[in-house]
Amino acid sequence: MRFLPVFLDVSAGTVALIGTGAAAQTKLRLLRAAGARIRWYAGAERFAVEAAETATHADAFEAQLDIVASDPAQADLSGVIAVVSAAGGAIDEAVAARARAANIPVNVVDRPDLSTFVFPAVIDRGDVVVAVGTGGASPVLARRLRERIEALLPARIGDLAALMGRFRERFAQRRHESRSLRRFWERVVDGPIGSAALAGHWHEAESALAQAVEESAKPEEASGLAYLVGAGPGDPDLLTLRALHALQSADVILYDELVSPAVLDRARRDAERVFVGKQRGRPGVGQDTINRLLVEHARRGLTVVRLKGGDPFIFGRGGEELDYLRDAGVPAVLVPGVTAALGCAAEAGLPLTFRNEATRLCLVTAQRAADVGATDWSELADPQTTVVVYMGLAVAASVRDGLIAAGRSPATPVAVLARGTRPDASAVYGELRDLGALAAQVGDGPGLLVIGEVVARADGWRAGYAGSAGMAEIAA
Ligand code: SAH
Repeated sequence: MRFLPVFLDVSAGTVALIGTGAAAQTKLRLLRAAGARIRWYAGAERFAVEAAETATHADAFEAQLDIVASDPAQADLSGVIAVVSAAGGAIDEAVAARARAANIPVNVVDRPDLSTFVFPAVIDRGDVVVAVGTGGASPVLARRLRERIEALLPARIGDLAALMGRFRERFAQRRHESRSLRRFWERVVDGPIGSAALAGHWHEAESALAQAVEESAKPEEASGLAYLVGAGPGDPDLLTLRALHALQSADVILYDELVSPAVLDRARRDAERVFVGKQRGRPGVGQDTINRLLVEHARRGLTVVRLKGGDPFIFGRGGEELDYLRDAGVPAVLVPGVTAALGCAAEAGLPLTFRNEATRLCLVTAQRAADVGATDWSELADPQTTVVVYMGLAVAASVRDGLIAAGRSPATPVAVLARGTRPDASAVYGELRDLGALAAQVGDGPGLLVIGEVVARADGWRAGYAGSAGMAEIAA
């Protein structure tokens, strides 16, 4: 590391900028954005005029900019805190030599050999600034890295930092000696306050933080945090960034059979993993036990993640768990996930709605035959409704009977999508009248039944039921 990254307060003095052209203008914009006062040696008079024009076009910092028409090589460096030279050739070399002799930090554009400091690629989120440097070796690489980091940083992270900055003093004054500074702020960032701020719910975040600061005057009690996290349908790339963050901060993870091993692999290495699902032929861990475990772990001061297939609020009992945590006074954060219907449909190239063709989408559950009996299928007989049945593989024939009896055409296109977005995904296509037989052909679940005209738009259907051994057999 030749260049030490530091953040310089450029409002503390004047920066000399030498030269014109695109590189000089870029630096001018950057320096002005940071609030610098600039003395600009733009060179010969004609350049100075050009520079003055750019400056007047630029913005409202007029008073901060002083354009000097004298010879840039002779630029007056007295009293400046830094020099940026973008004149090129001999002028840059001369300016750099003088700045170095006077111990003034100098940057020469595209010449790390002449520079004593370099400009990093900057990600600017207000109070949060990330700088990426490559020692001046490859600005292109630095920019590529910046793009990746941009994509990872929550858009409102700067607002969150500003909010915390405002309460920092007050917390420091009020906090009881038993309160750990680090843990307090970690909980703010990772918990409901951070979530609210990052979601733009400003007032909610602010009043919750104000309250937390007030309460910090009392001695600390071990208080953990619970996340209810949607794991998506299986492919770990379908995790949200927030889910990934929760998985990375987990002490304990409670997961079930719907969570794929590939997703679990993304969790923090030393998080304890607890299986709370059903295994073939054995009764699963009951919901009461799961609720109790969540609260127990959180009360020990741990960060506990309840990881659930798809989205926690869609046929996932996330609502019950959230209620239980609230009643127990455990702070809880819900992280949505890609529900099976969306993940599977995207994989199959199957649009769930379509202009003038499918104007309604219904997600229904058919866990038991009794559910099927209790379902009002007449609601779902409308030809413009796409029906996605969760937990319906084993009762597909009853779903078919219910829909046909309610008036849905037996020729309606259907798909059975099993183990969607996983390496062993499989899909079969056919007509509603064959739904029972189709569902028997995809092997083990989890699987979805999709019923509606839009199914005929899916890749597999268009390819003549390609990959659909089932339909070929039925046709034979
Ligand atoms: N909360 C989950 C649904 C849980 S109910 C979600 O939002 O997706 C369990 C049912 O979800 C399964 O019976 C099956 O119908 C469906 N399912 C879950 N993962 C699936 C997958 N990868 N492929 C197909 N169906 C899936």
